Amino acid sequence: MRIAIVVPECDPFAKVGGLADVAGSLPRALRSLGHEVAVFLPRYAAIPERLLEGAEARGEVRVQTGEVDRTVRILEARLGEVPAFLLEEPRSFGRPGVYGENGIDYPDNPERFAVLSLGALLAMDALGFAPEVLHVHDWQTALVPVYRRVRGLHRKAGVLFTIHNLAYQGLHEKEILPRLGIPWDLFAIEGLEFYGRANLLKGGLVFSTLLNTVSPTYAREIQEEEMGVGLDGVLRHRARDLSGILNGIDPEAWNPASGREVAAPFSAAEPSGKRKCKAALQRELGLEVGADRPLFGAVGRLDPQKGFDLVSEVGPRLLDRGAQLAVLGTGHEAIAGRLRALASQRPDRCSVTLGFAAPLARRIYAGADFFLMPSRFEPCGLGQMIAMRYGTIPVVRATGGLADTVRDVGQDPERGNGYAFGEFTAGALQGALDRALEGFAARSRFERIVARAMREDFSWTRSAKAYVDLYARAARQEAG
Ligand code: ADP
Repeated sequence: MRIAIVVPECDPFAKVGGLADVAGSLPRALRSLGHEVAVFLPRYAAIPERLLEGAEARGEVRVQTGEVDRTVRILEARLGEVPAFLLEEPRSFGRPGVYGENGIDYPDNPERFAVLSLGALLAMDALGFAPEVLHVHDWQTALVPVYRRVRGLHRKAGVLFTIHNLAYQGLHEKEILPRLGIPWDLFAIEGLEFYGRANLLKGGLVFSTLLNTVSPTYAREIQEEEMGVGLDGVLRHRARDLSGILNGIDPEAWNPASGREVAAPFSAAEPSGKRKCKAALQRELGLEVGADRPLFGAVGRLDPQKGFDLVSEVGPRLLDRGAQLAVLGTGHEAIAGRLRALASQRPDRCSVTLGFAAPLARRIYAGADFFLMPSRFEPCGLGQMIAMRYGTIPVVRATGGLADTVRDVGQDPERGNGYAFGEFTAGALQGALDRALEGFAARSRFERIVARAMREDFSWTRSAKAYVDLYARAARQEAG
């Protein structure tokens, strides 16, 4: 199949969260299944120069819609064997960051991502790339199916819309629509209208051929009011076209046996290197060095979604019980402040690093005994899968993709690979942590759990095949 993937982030070019990992891995997995794939994304100023070496200019398109009138240059770079077409438009993308700066979104994001969405459709034409499927992601590319309809572009292609996180919707006053060249007749219940405002994500949900999200459990959860973020009705309406496909991780990029960027290589068969990684991490973070101190790691956005508020609540007792905590994250000041306070009280037991640091993240995945992810909601979550690959046992709230990847040791002693709790309360997390500490103390049993976690297969192959099935269905639906 000929597949065009339009994304606002793509590892290694630009990364904010899990969407970038998906956009970096899925195209290559599709390519190795024999499909023709092209990726379209903005040429952000933040893209490292070394990734642009050898990139070729492939012409330009003029994006004119509403008040937007920009000339967009097309640069062809490489994502392995897959061409990555970077849309260069300095007014929109020639600035720091991806969505904003210092945690504040750019106010002209609707215009910026309209340039991406319409620019990508026009670039496909200019390049002579006629996709059978358009695969778009989150609100930033939700206007692809809208412009496809309004402008009559690539009408024969099926559109698959993937929801990575329903919490970000691109919600604006309705006056945004004429500015983006979207006619008023689409400001309707069966369109982008959302309680009197314009919801770009909703446009994607209504006008795409098929929808999916990144885990089967999250696909069910978002059809209910509690997790539907106001769009559960729309999603229930499209229930027959909505499915869940778990994200994969790249087993080579996250391979403890390669020893890449960590103190020592290790594997399920040869686990001893992990002890060196743990000691090195303890030393690096100023924690007391000791193999028998259970070390809990956490890496992620310091956002209410991720449940770090619960971590700061249960932290003091966890540390009192002799455990250590290593946190790496960026985001909300208040959450960061509480975690920092914990670290300053017990620097030998708790370390908090604020910032985005992929190498330290990897050293935490490799060196910790446990990985904490007590999320309020979690569309898929990559952290728990990466952690397991490094033999680090996840302690998670059983929601979304966490529920689909972590099997509780207590409930399933033979196949368990982690610890899970249900209610989003400090008490419930506390209960899971107590069980984790008991598990850690039973040394040889714990080692078996670690080996089991390391042998889980989270590679992309199975997920990529599931995507191909959806692409074929979407293409058939539009062709028929
Ligand atoms: P989300 O997409 O909601 O942020 P995921 O768990 O799906 O969460 O993906 C997060 C990805 O970003 C993981 O690969 C994680 O290791 C990485 N990551 C998150 N925060 C940081 C950070 N501060 N430093 C380095 N890597 C991070």
